[in-house]
Parts: sequence; C-alpha cells; structure tokens
Amino acid sequence: MSSTGVKMEQTVSSFIGKPVKMLIGKNWVDAINGATFPVYNPATGEVLANVAEGRKEDIELAVKAARSAFEEGPWARMTPADRGKLLWKLGDLLEKHLEEFAQLESLDNGKPLTVARAADVPLAADLLRYMAGWATKIEGSTIPISVPYTPGTKYLAYTLREPIGVVGQIIPWNFPLLMAAWKLGPALATGCTVVLKPAEQTPLSALRLAELIQEAGFPEGVVNVVAGYGETAGAALAAHPDVDKVAFTGSTEVGKLIVQAAAGNLKKVTLELGGKSPNIVFKDSNLDEAIAGAASAIFFNHGQCCCAGSRLYIEEAVFDKVVDGVAKIAEGIKVGDGFDPNTQMGPLVSDEQLNRVCGYMKSGFDQGAKALAGGEKLGDKGYFVKPTVLTNVDQNMKVVQEEIFGPVVTAMPFKTTEEITPVANDTVYGLAAGIWTSDISKAHSLASKLRAGTVWVNCYNIFDAAMPFGGYKQSGWGREMGKESLELYTEVKSVCVKM
Ligand code: ADP
Repeated sequence: MSSTGVKMEQTVSSFIGKPVKMLIGKNWVDAINGATFPVYNPATGEVLANVAEGRKEDIELAVKAARSAFEEGPWARMTPADRGKLLWKLGDLLEKHLEEFAQLESLDNGKPLTVARAADVPLAADLLRYMAGWATKIEGSTIPISVPYTPGTKYLAYTLREPIGVVGQIIPWNFPLLMAAWKLGPALATGCTVVLKPAEQTPLSALRLAELIQEAGFPEGVVNVVAGYGETAGAALAAHPDVDKVAFTGSTEVGKLIVQAAAGNLKKVTLELGGKSPNIVFKDSNLDEAIAGAASAIFFNHGQCCCAGSRLYIEEAVFDKVVDGVAKIAEGIKVGDGFDPNTQMGPLVSDEQLNRVCGYMKSGFDQGAKALAGGEKLGDKGYFVKPTVLTNVDQNMKVVQEEIFGPVVTAMPFKTTEEITPVANDTVYGLAAGIWTSDISKAHSLASKLRAGTVWVNCYNIFDAAMPFGGYKQSGWGREMGKESLELYTEVKSVCVKM
C-alpha cells in the first residue's frame, strides 16, 4: 500500500477539522444530549472526523421542522418551476465543488478518488438536474367517467398528483453522496420535505451537501440532515408517526425492520435492498469484453454495490478462459489508499465489513471452494481485502446464496440457456443481472425470463438518472431514478365535479 498522493483541499480539512453538526430547520446544531460519534478513515483505521450523534429526540425536532416547512413555509407555496430551479442550482453547486466532494467521499468511504471524481459526484449532480426537469411535469389526468347510477348527470373528473408529505430517508455507506442525491432528487422535485439520515460510517458528504442546499436557497426545514446510528436515529425516523413515507436503501435484513417500524402509522415505504446478481457469459460473446465486464461487475466499488455481479455463470466451453481472465484482472488490480492516484481499489468501508467478507471467504473454503485469485485480507493497517475469484463452488453454498458485499465473485460453469435460467433466478434477491452474448434473440429472450429489476446486456453497472433502478423479490419495493421514482413521492387525488 502506498502513501497518499493527493493534497487534501483546504475546504475538506476545515470541514472535518471541527465537530460536524446536524442541520435542523435553518440551524446547524449539536445533538440535544451533546453526543458525538467518530467517523473513521478506512484506509488507516484512524478517526477522520467527529459528528453530532442524532437520536430519537433530535429526529423529533427534525420531523417537526420538516412538517412545518411542508405545511406552512414558502416551500408549500413555491411554483414547480422555482423548485426545479433550486434543484438545478444544487446540481451546479455540487459540480462546482466536485473535487471537494470527491475527496470527502474517498476519505470517508475508502473509494479511489479517481472513481469518486468520475462517477459519484457527476452522477449525483446529473440526477439532481434530471429531477429538476421533472418538477414542472408532475401531472394528473382528466378521466371521462360515466357513473351508471346517476343517468343524465355530467361530471368533470380529474386527478392531482400531490407531494406525499414529510419523508424520512435512510441511506447506506457504499455511495454516500449519490444515494443522498437519488433520495433527495425525486422528493424535492415533487414538493416533499425531508429528514435524511446518512449511514453512521459515512455521514460527511451528506452533511456538506446540506450546506450547499442552504446555499442554493432551499427554504428552511425542507431538508434536514441528522447523522446517527441505525438502531437509534434510523429506527426513530422509520417509526415516527408524523412521517408520511420512509425511503430506505440498505440490507434486506434492516429493510424488514423498516417495514415493521413503518406499520405503526402505515407510512408508505420504498426499499432498495440487497442482491446476489447473476452475470451470465455465453461462448458466443465477445470474450475480451465479457471478461473485462465480469471483472468490473464485481470489483467496481470493491464489490460494495447492491447490484454487484457476484455470481458468475460461464458457458462450459469457455469457462477456463473466462475465469482465468477474470482472475488475471483481479490479481492486477492495484489495491491501496483511495488518495493514491494509482489506486484502483480502496479498502472496505469498515472493520466490521472486513470481518464479514473474510468470514464469507472462510465459509467458502470450508465448503470446498478454491481461490483462483485473492482469498484473504491485505496488509495489517486499514480494511483491505484482495479481489477474489472463487471456483469449485456449488449453488447451495453460502458464498453463492448470500450477499457478501465485497470483492468476491463465485464462478460456475453451465451447459445450456435452459439449464442456466432457473439457476440464475435461484436466489431470494432480484436486483440485477448481466448477459454476455452476440445472439440478440437469446439476449432478449433471457432478459425477459430473469427476475431482476435491471438486466444489462453486454455491459454492466450502467446507470442513468432516467433509467429506473430497484428490485424484484427481496431486493426491494419500488424504484429509484426515472419517472417511476417520482410517482412514489406523490399521492393521487381524484377530484369529481358535478357540472
Ligand atoms: P449495512 O449492514 O451494510 O451497514 P444497513 O442496512 O445496516 O447496511 O444500513 C443502512 C442504513 O440503515 C444506515 O443508514 C443505517 O444506519 C440504517 N439502519 C441500520 N439499522 C437500522 C434500523 N434498525 N432502523 C432504521 N435504520 C437502520
């Protein structure tokens, strides 16, 4: 592992140099009980910043601020065009501060600075601008009703799409800024108000974004950001009786807790949860592209993607060639500090995550798996693990069935499309899938049979603000991005007028 190569921006060092507060209404405040919690740099294991730790009583205040902004504030009276302008401005501000956000993200999450610059920050800005355009296009419809029991009477019936209200948003640590943007964009475009709770491992970019939200001119209370732990702040938000909707991204296990917590007031729930996505390589594909694609499907963001292509199925005739190719790429990946410009893969986000990934690898080995590449942690400082390719696996092993959320792919051979389709679908998850083939009929036919919210053909991990993303089965409820996400932040009101 190399020493860091990029100089930290002065704005970054001053932001993390003092305890970071929470935004409630228009004020940056400490936690009511004064508590703070440490945030670690995963490349070194050292404390990076101290952040105000929100708990139930802080969530209470944030929800009050969001409620008041929703019911009474200038936000409630603002035109859709003005909401759109604010969102656009926020996207511009984010872009203006690209380097600063990329650095915060790399320091906090561990991802390479080069990746945060090229992906996380621009995608977040793009999403905000995409949603800015929707603010003026949230439309109802007119409905020609007949009403058989009032013959001769005419009615004008139409629907309104209204903002759902106060929304609690709970996000994970794998793409801290981008997940904040995915959540805030549709909520603000539709006119909702928000209490956002970033992950305790990576709260910094969302808190800095809250400063830009103020700078852009969003009225007070429209966005409140409270960092804190899941079991306290997160649980209080999910259960809060005055929250109209909770939107959650994280593990399927916690997703189920969110559903239970939401039952008290039957708030609306959307969930973007785990995955164990199949990536299927046929012998008629462009093998060089398939090999590179299969490697990046699992190793991008260190495998800490809910849609990571973690189950690689390869047609038997090309199994050795493809799996050797992926292993060769794995071995060549430069793992190190995210601030080193040569680093291609940074550390995992936390000690807990490192132990979890190593535990899964051990369970694979105990059940007979072999590591063609990697298979162990790397170094003794920070939370590094080697990019890993496991062979000699079968469908029932834990490493094939459970989400590892690390740079570990299992590779298995298959003979025919008929044989592989049910195997690919043999998972409780249904978030994404990949198909590599030059046969377009096979590609479309298999795409229609895969039970997954996104199917990539001859590509992987391609995201766009306009393309909905979300899961079948236990990968979630609802969709993020695209027009579908906006509908989930609105209520439909039917208005019926006797003429
Ligand atoms: P991971 O296991 O990968 O850390 P989690 O699903 O635990 O993912 O975390 C995702 C988000 O959910 C984080 O913001 C976390 O604080 C929050 N969270 C964790 N537990 C709960 C809970 N019981 N209620 C509400 N939010 C929670």
